[in-house]
Amino acid sequence: QKFVYDFTEGNKDLKDLLGGKGANLAEMTNLGLPVPPGFTITTEACKVYLESGTEPAALRDEVSTHLDALERKMAKKLGQADDPLLVSVRSGAKFSMPGMMDTVLNIGLSDESVRGLAAQSGDERFAWDSYRRLIQMFGKTVLAVDGDLFEEALEEVKQVTGATTDVDLGAPELEQLVERFKGIVVKETGRDFPQDPREQMDLAVRAVFDSWNGDRARLYRRQERIPHDLGTAVNICSMVFGNLGPDSGTGVAFTRDPASGHQGVYGDYLQNAQGEDVVAGIRNTVPLADLEQLDKASYDSLMQIMETLETHYKDLCDIEFTVERGKLWMLQTRVGKRTAAAAFRIATQLVDQGLIDEAEALQRVNGAQLAQLMFPRFAADAAIERIGSGIAASPGAAVGKAVFDSYTAIKWSRSGEQVILIRRETNPDDLDGMLAAEGILTSRGGKTSHAAVVARGMGKTCVCGAEELEVDTKRRRMTAPGGTVVEEGDTVSIDGSSGKVYLGEVPVVPSPVVEYFEGRMHAGADDADELVKAVHRVMAYADRVRRLRVRANADNAEDASRARRFGAQGIGLCRTEHMFLGERREMVERLILADTDSERDSALAGLLPQQKRDFVELFEAMDGLPVTVRLLDPPLHEFLPDITELSVRVALAESRKDANENDLRLLQAVHRLHEQNPMLGLRGVRLGLVIPGLFTMQVRAIAEAAAERKAAKGDPRAEIMIPLVGTVQELEIVREDAEKVIAEIEETYGVDLKLSLGTMIELPRAALTAGQIAESADFFSFGTNDLTQTVWGFSRDDVEASFFTAYLEKGIFGVSPFETIDKDGVGALVRDAVEAGRATRPDLKLGVCGEHGGDPESVHFFHEVGLDYVSCSPFRVPVARLEAGRAAA
Ligand code: PEP
Ligand code: MG
Repeated sequence: QKFVYDFTEGNKDLKDLLGGKGANLAEMTNLGLPVPPGFTITTEACKVYLESGTEPAALRDEVSTHLDALERKMAKKLGQADDPLLVSVRSGAKFSMPGMMDTVLNIGLSDESVRGLAAQSGDERFAWDSYRRLIQMFGKTVLAVDGDLFEEALEEVKQVTGATTDVDLGAPELEQLVERFKGIVVKETGRDFPQDPREQMDLAVRAVFDSWNGDRARLYRRQERIPHDLGTAVNICSMVFGNLGPDSGTGVAFTRDPASGHQGVYGDYLQNAQGEDVVAGIRNTVPLADLEQLDKASYDSLMQIMETLETHYKDLCDIEFTVERGKLWMLQTRVGKRTAAAAFRIATQLVDQGLIDEAEALQRVNGAQLAQLMFPRFAADAAIERIGSGIAASPGAAVGKAVFDSYTAIKWSRSGEQVILIRRETNPDDLDGMLAAEGILTSRGGKTSHAAVVARGMGKTCVCGAEELEVDTKRRRMTAPGGTVVEEGDTVSIDGSSGKVYLGEVPVVPSPVVEYFEGRMHAGADDADELVKAVHRVMAYADRVRRLRVRANADNAEDASRARRFGAQGIGLCRTEHMFLGERREMVERLILADTDSERDSALAGLLPQQKRDFVELFEAMDGLPVTVRLLDPPLHEFLPDITELSVRVALAESRKDANENDLRLLQAVHRLHEQNPMLGLRGVRLGLVIPGLFTMQVRAIAEAAAERKAAKGDPRAEIMIPLVGTVQELEIVREDAEKVIAEIEETYGVDLKLSLGTMIELPRAALTAGQIAESADFFSFGTNDLTQTVWGFSRDDVEASFFTAYLEKGIFGVSPFETIDKDGVGALVRDAVEAGRATRPDLKLGVCGEHGGDPESVHFFHEVGLDYVSCSPFRVPVARLEAGRAAA
């Protein structure tokens, strides 16, 4: 087994073995690009080290061999006293991972070789600066010395000498600083800073291996579901210096604009600096275009290299480079991150350039990006004061009056005000306030903080962790860095897609992509937005290749029409309970309270025509496409008054001796129907079985509506769905009753309605007995909300606000199983039920209508297990179409 690869030996497809950085350095080397020579220690070596606690026996010799070769190539030895070869040691896993050790530069410097470097470079200041950087980086990342100690020492020396930046420090001060840094190392670690260059290198390599198991790295992997046993590679690369004077420098570049996708010159350059200076923002960079004036030769070769890389990688690349005394060196490249809009544009641009085909274009975008493009956003040119920024936690643009507690948020929103809830951090007590607010802003916490998790769940705009904003909830105000004070009631605007916070009202504009889906903007028009054109084309590719059909969850004609405009191919779930709200609630109340058959019949007779009208409208909006109507699902008490409020009212009335008969009966019913666990109680098919006439009334309404649509020359395609079935017997009874009603109506109207009857699979028992249930069902629709709830034993209404934040922080899952399907648990049941159902009935139609139907990762899963369609909320329909296309391409 070979543990070390020279840069000339690897290539970009060896990411498993060489990590992302190493594989790309090798690729560039073999393309003939100017990469400083070096070699990569494989992830395999790391794995051996992590498993056994020591480096593999062969590693030392292999490294020696490669180091020898490197020294011969560079014509100097590592740490050589009069002219030292220096190297960088950089970690590089298959996936880029924050929280891992990154880089130690200038390995090979010692008390002796620093003088050799000074003599060779003719620049003493440079030599001492390089040495102090080595001790600082090595001390911090390899020897685990608190980095602040070095920073404080640096600050002190600056103060004593009156320097404002590092650059103002001369050679003598830096030499002095080196002594102080070495003192810190001895004091903190009980040993001297190692003077042997090979020992420096070996220790740094080992530190990279160890960093794989650092706390933050482990947490990150758990959340991102990156396996713990991949290990990291280590890159050892000869140093080139961007801090050798004005003819040197360092920079970053993109082959296209990562914000718009436009081709051009994008990047930053910093003269006379080393890599980390750019990232740290210590001094101001200049636009990359300025390099043309500073150093035309380097600029020209950089432009040529960028073109080579784009054609080679067939994608936007980002690049780190260094210029050493007029010679350009490439230090890193990778396929670059980009904004959502740029992703769509670049994908179609590359198709037009003939670099990629349509199938590949689909892999270059994703549903999350499309969803982002569908949020309304702030007008770009609004001149308004930005007062801070935080983490973009939940997208959207929200404007409202600043409030600093939930109580005020609720009170103000009830009186019609739009509010932004501002807290240091949120906790479960803030839930109602968060619901009432347009958006949420916190000054603490990251992407998995309570505010972020809950806001995403609610679909509320949220910016969290805006640390520069000082939130004072007691005094109901917030102070921005410039001293600007935001008082309660002042208008603020927050952008959940960029994390920016503004004082005042920023005008909100609708997303052009939504305008396009709505049909208010045409992709074909000459002046059509470039982004809209790109989205239009990518959607067409997706629709062409996808196998999954996409339906919408919609309960009224308006939503159905929108869903249709967004490309829905039917309704996968019409929740009929939404039709019993408002004034119809009273009729349901009468139904529940009925003591006699005639009372019940009259209540049902009152509901029938209303239900029928709902369905006629719905079938009309979805004419020619399937509409799955689900019979009543929720526990009945949801239609009755609140038990506490009613008890109080009745008690008060009784004390005044004027309790009314109806209220007393109502209270009795409320008590009778009260359940400790309504989600597991009298709901779904159970209701249909214990309330005579309820389900048959709904079936009648569906059938008559369909018959009327037929009479009006329409093409209704109704499907009747029974919720919460656990056993085939339940379904058989409901089916028998329904078929009688349908037959009667077909006869009356003289039509064949072709109604199909199916069930939801949303209980573990239903999934486990799917083979039996299929005997009585024409279709299954997986209700993954309830299925997740019952498989995990997680109350879907409670857990996201109670303990999910802790679960996310501990990395038990990276995303809520209510958001992305839990493939191993819930998903396994779905997979087995699909198989068992089809074994019983090969033509069984299969779909999903839980929230997961619109979740990108879940859509891929449903494609894989062979469902026929997914159903999701109208706004997610384009996302599902795109992901279904990506899954099939
Ligand atoms: C489900 O349980 O997944 C479902 C779609 O039904 P509901 O969300 O209405 O319970
Ligand atoms: Mg359900």
